[in-house]
Amino acid sequence: MPRSKMEFGRYMRQLELQDWGVEGQNRLGDSHVFMAGVGGLGSSAGIYLAAAGVGKITVCDSDRVELSNLTRQTLYGITDVGMPKATLAAQRLKAFNPQIEVEPNISEIDHAVAGGLIEGSDLVLDCLDNLETRVAMNRAIIAAGIPMIYAACSELTGHVSFLHPPETPCLECFVSRMPPAVEPPIPGFTPGVIGSLQAMEAIKHLVGIGETLKGRLLVFEGMEPRVDVLEIERDPDCPACRGLS
Ligand SMILES: [Zn+2]
Repeated sequence: MPRSKMEFGRYMRQLELQDWGVEGQNRLGDSHVFMAGVGGLGSSAGIYLAAAGVGKITVCDSDRVELSNLTRQTLYGITDVGMPKATLAAQRLKAFNPQIEVEPNISEIDHAVAGGLIEGSDLVLDCLDNLETRVAMNRAIIAAGIPMIYAACSELTGHVSFLHPPETPCLECFVSRMPPAVEPPIPGFTPGVIGSLQAMEAIKHLVGIGETLKGRLLVFEGMEPRVDVLEIERDPDCPACRGLS
C-alpha cells in the first residue's frame, strides 16, 4: 500500500523506535481495532490509537454523554451532554488524525450481537464498565479467536491484561480478582493512566515490538503508588474457556 511522505512525517518519531520502522507503521495502518466502550478508558486509549495511526478504529458505545462523565471522559465537553458518545468519539478521533478511518457504532453490546460486532477486527479493546457486557465480549473473542486487551478501574486502582485464549487465561478465569463494577468513585486520572497502558499494549502487539501482558495482570495502585505485574493462569473449571485448546 503506498504511503505518502506527509503521512510518514507525522509518524517519524515513533517509527524511529527499534523494530518499528516503516514496516511496523504499515502493520499499524493495516490494522482494525474494535473499541468496546468509549467512556473514561476509551477516551484515553482512543486518542493514542488514533494518533499512532491505527488504520481503522470502530468505536462502539450505546450511551450518551452525562455531566458526571466529564471529569474523566476527556473526548467530551460540556456542550456534548446528551449526545451519543460513539458518534462524538468517531468525530474527535478522526479530527485528531484524518489519515485513519473511524467508524461509530451505537449498538448495545450483548451476547446476541457481540460476535457480529467484532467480526473482521484484529484486536478488541475492553473499555467497558460492567461485568455482564465484559462477559459477552469475552465469549465473543473466544469464539472468534481475536485477542482482547482487558482493562478495568475503580478509585485509584487499575488492571490491564492481554487475553488471547487458549494461549492465555480468558476474562472469566480471573473474574473474582476484578475491581467492583458498580459505579465506584473514580477520579479522571485512573482511566487516563490505565487507558494509556491499554493503548500501549495494543500498539506493541499490532506493530510487533516488545512483550505484551499475555498471561500477566498489571495491577496499578495509584494511592501508594505502585505497579505489580502478576502471573495469571487459566482456570481449568472456567465456564468460558474450559477445554479450549
Ligand atoms: Zn477462561
